[in-house]
Amino acid sequence: MPVEPPIETPRTLADAFALLATSTPDDQLTPIAGGTDVMVRITGEIGEPPGRLVDLGRLDELRGIQADGEAITIGALTTYTEIRRSAPCREHLPALVDAAATIGAAQIQNRGTLGGNIANASPAGDTLPVLLALDAEMVVGGQRGERTVPASDFWVAYRRTALAPDELILRIRIPVRGGRETRFRKVGTRRAQAISKVVIAVAWRESPGSPAWRDVRVALGSVADRPIRAAAAERALEGRSPTPEAADQAADALAAEIHPIDDVRSTADYRRVVAARALHRIVRDAGGW
Ligand SMILES: Cc1cc2nc3c(=O)[nH]c(=O)nc-3n(C[C@H](O)[C@H](O)[C@H](O)COP(=O)(O)OP(=O)(O)OC[C@H]3O[C@@H](n4cnc5c(N)ncnc54)[C@H](O)[C@@H]3O)c2cc1C
Repeated sequence: MPVEPPIETPRTLADAFALLATSTPDDQLTPIAGGTDVMVRITGEIGEPPGRLVDLGRLDELRGIQADGEAITIGALTTYTEIRRSAPCREHLPALVDAAATIGAAQIQNRGTLGGNIANASPAGDTLPVLLALDAEMVVGGQRGERTVPASDFWVAYRRTALAPDELILRIRIPVRGGRETRFRKVGTRRAQAISKVVIAVAWRESPGSPAWRDVRVALGSVADRPIRAAAAERALEGRSPTPEAADQAADALAAEIHPIDDVRSTADYRRVVAARALHRIVRDAGGW
């Protein structure tokens, strides 16, 4: 029988930082937020079980969604249910709300947190392409201070992040940009409780009176060892109107630039074709043809 790991429950962020600073390779501390990923690992059947746990649940500093004119800032402990219900998220970050609505089912959405999805760093994590497409920044910190890491630099390898062992994700800052449109699409085996086979988020801006897309972002999950931006597909759409030709070229560029793998959930071929079709469909819907 697996042994339940010991759990520390700091009352303040400073206490949590002090605890994490004592983490060593022999006595590793694992933060636990909603626990929907950590608890799955607790039996040790899928890899090394967590050691001592640090419960973040009392750290109110990591909660809440704030909006100023320039950005929406989301505390790391914010749950998917809170994101779905948040007026600023619904107004300015509809793709994140759409992603939150596809995660697990109500129980997981009530417990699972945005910070947990980001730190867990699964290539299939559904919010991660959205954060890439929205140019999000992770504000992380520990006893040595705070720093900001752009989403594009955050996932550094398979299930590895730029986070140091003594750091926490504190909040996620997502710039609000005038004229920005976003789309999210997840393809799984079924509509709920499914891990993505392909997940795509697309963002672009339109100027008044011009249908041309600028600042195009195409981000994907489940097609590489980490969430990625698709640079060639972005180039194929940048400065263009959402015409059939632009959609064809972007889809071809995307299919050529990604290198998904076969695994238990899907095949590389399926992922490549579906990713390209999903992008094509998003452009087509935006173009209204
Ligand atoms: C039935 C089920 C269905 C699911 N469906 C989906 C799905 O559809 N899509 C999807 O993307 N995911 C899904 N998940 C995975 C999971 O729910 C999400 O990844 C969730 O966001 C994890 O958040 P959490 O708060 O529960 O994280 P936890 O389990 O508490 O932590 C996850 C990891 O992040 C670390 N961590 C947590 N918070 C912080 C922080 N603030 N700073 C630093 N490190 C931190 C922990 O140490 C741990 O390594 C599912 C899980 C289950 C069990």
